[in-house]
Amino acid sequence: MQKSSETTGSESIDEIYKKPAGQRNALVIVRPPGHHASASKSSGFCIFNNVAVAAKYAQRHHRAKRVLILDWDVHHGNGTQEIFYEDPSVMYMSIHRHDKGNFYPIGEPKDYFDVGEGAGEGTSVNVPFSGAPMGDLEYQMAFQRVIMPIAYQFNPDLVIISAGFDAAIDDPLGEYKVTPETFAWMTYQLSSLASGRIITVLEGGYNLTSISNSALAVCEVLQNRAMLRRLKDEKEQFGKPHEIHSSCIKTLREVCAVQQNHWSILKGFQIIIGTVMDSKLINKNGKVNSTVKKSIKAATEPVTQRTSGYNTRQKNRRRSAETAPTTTTSVEEDVLKKMENLKL
Ligand SMILES: [Zn+2]
Repeated sequence: MQKSSETTGSESIDEIYKKPAGQRNALVIVRPPGHHASASKSSGFCIFNNVAVAAKYAQRHHRAKRVLILDWDVHHGNGTQEIFYEDPSVMYMSIHRHDKGNFYPIGEPKDYFDVGEGAGEGTSVNVPFSGAPMGDLEYQMAFQRVIMPIAYQFNPDLVIISAGFDAAIDDPLGEYKVTPETFAWMTYQLSSLASGRIITVLEGGYNLTSISNSALAVCEVLQNRAMLRRLKDEKEQFGKPHEIHSSCIKTLREVCAVQQNHWSILKGFQIIIGTVMDSKLINKNGKVNSTVKKSIKAATEPVTQRTSGYNTRQKNRRRSAETAPTTTTSVEEDVLKKMENLKL
């Protein structure tokens, strides 16, 4: 693994293409961050888009056909998305705080229906969280239900992580609660792709202790060292289990409803059943737990289908909101009945 602070993204790529399996990864400690910078404009503390340069370099010098950029910074990487929005060879996936459009970068296309345009339609995947501060369970559910299935079908030959640590617990800007163990777990999941070719590149982060702890956990996984210990300690590390936030379930259903038009692996994905399992909606007596009604509502409400993107935005700053419900209203009662019959 590359560990020096002076190693650039392009040098790291050269190295991992020379290494045998198990050593094809790198952690690039780079400042300033880059994911808000577009091809022609700097913004949000970013001057050059480091991961975009790395992706293009890998394509040009190592014949990488498909590059996956996974961005877990709490902010959306609007610069990266814009650069590859019409490019089907580079997939941009982001889990970010959205707050219904009111979280930085405001006014950029970063909702679940912003999926890419032209030949790149379907290669932008946005998981935009709103509502309660998200933590380990929500990020893991997003990975299991959306990120990894699509990533497997895309089948990249290089993975680049835009690794901001401002979704980490105790970050003053992000205000989310992701622990180092979940950053490690997400890295572990991604390392199953691209024959293990994975480059982790720093982005934002505003609490030095949170950054250090999170980056160390990622680093340990890249070095194949600590995952067993971490898995063993999982119960203590993750703290008291809580129910998945209902707004997370709603967001994941929206993402699935839109992305299944581009990724067949998501078709038939039973988010509703997943919710039953994950949130323990059924009590010991086989009845639906009355305290989780919100989750049931989130799991059964019709999903609004909308279209957007840069071209649409240029024509009309305020997006049109044509709606086409994908489910009917009696679903909620129907699901409640079925869930009770499942006797989980
Ligand atoms: Zn950030």
